[in-house]
Amino acid sequence: MSIDEGPSCVYRPVRSMQFTKRAFELLAQGELTLKAWDEQGMLLSVAVSGTCPRCLHPHEDTALPTAVGVGEMREVDHLAQRLPTVHSVVFRCKCEEEHAGRDEGEAGCGLEYRLDFTG
Ligand SMILES: [Zn+2]
Ligand SMILES: [Zn+2]
Repeated sequence: MSIDEGPSCVYRPVRSMQFTKRAFELLAQGELTLKAWDEQGMLLSVAVSGTCPRCLHPHEDTALPTAVGVGEMREVDHLAQRLPTVHSVVFRCKCEEEHAGRDEGEAGCGLEYRLDFTG
């Protein structure tokens, strides 16, 4: 583990696929959980809670998903079947632990990570 991650990492804005990858590992291990709210098939918001992929502190965040690819229509047995939409959600670490270099009133370690999923 490098000095740029872990519980004593310095606050700085970070966006890296490395942490998206770790977020999926944490999801698979049950260290991170996702909750989605939808209404009539429309995805409204997604909440994450659990271990931050960067600083490893407990954190939670809620974000609005953006649809990045709407499924195309395709004929299957004469029925039009819609392929699932791919949603992209960007979460921010909002842990309440101390991180050096963070401004007063801010929270988290500075990590923003993106999760894509179909729904
Ligand atoms: Zn933290
Ligand atoms: Zn963090």
